Amino acid sequence: MGRRPLIAGNWKMHLTPSETEAFCKAFVGSVEGCAAEILLIPSFPSLDRAREGLDGSQVRLGAQDIHTEQKGAFTGAVSGPMLEDVGCTYVLVGHSERRAVFGDDDSTVNGKLHAALASDLLPILCVGEVLEDRKAGRTEDIVSAQLDRGLADVGPEAFECITIAYEPVWAIGTGETATPQQAQETIAAIRDWISEHFGEDLASGVRILYGGSVKPANASELLAKPDIDGALVGGASLDPEAFSQIVAAAD
Ligand code: PEP
Repeated sequence: MGRRPLIAGNWKMHLTPSETEAFCKAFVGSVEGCAAEILLIPSFPSLDRAREGLDGSQVRLGAQDIHTEQKGAFTGAVSGPMLEDVGCTYVLVGHSERRAVFGDDDSTVNGKLHAALASDLLPILCVGEVLEDRKAGRTEDIVSAQLDRGLADVGPEAFECITIAYEPVWAIGTGETATPQQAQETIAAIRDWISEHFGEDLASGVRILYGGSVKPANASELLAKPDIDGALVGGASLDPEAFSQIVAAAD
């Protein structure tokens, strides 16, 4: 996996299965031959239709959430083996909306990360601070604490499968992007955290994304920063043209 740029589209609770089919038809051809790894993350009911629509393309499929257990009496939940069976390669864990709206704390996030690894899914661990913390100068403390707890009991070998996404909560869905310099600084601090815990060699090979109001207009500048290895895109990934322009910016 390494640090090959990854452009991932998190669709949240948008696009029905029929809309997903139409998106794939419009999108797949436009990103053929692009150098970046490309990932679509639809809602659970749209996964199967997306798998069909992406068949034969280089675009990968991911899920927005995973349960900590592999099966059982957990009404409404979806397990790692189910996601793998429907064709997912990646899964998000710790997205700020899961944390804020559904109450996923760091220990749940850690359980989900381990569940992903146990099912051969590649977790994308999302971390990031709220505006109040940024204003108070606590960004690095908050993000370090999320890494300490979210990556508990993870060995160095697992980093071959783990991507980290730095998503300042104040920049998600707000139209307010972190400046490339702010994003670079915090992502460099995340790499330092990995270096302190697992050594510089390993840290220099871990892929770290930026997420938060990435659009065609700001993608190139963000992706040009030395520690930013790709983007996790929400709103702009719902439009095939805008999303393919972001993919092109990674080339
Ligand atoms: C996200 O959902 O992870 C995200 C970054 O959303 P947006 O691009 O809409 O800010």
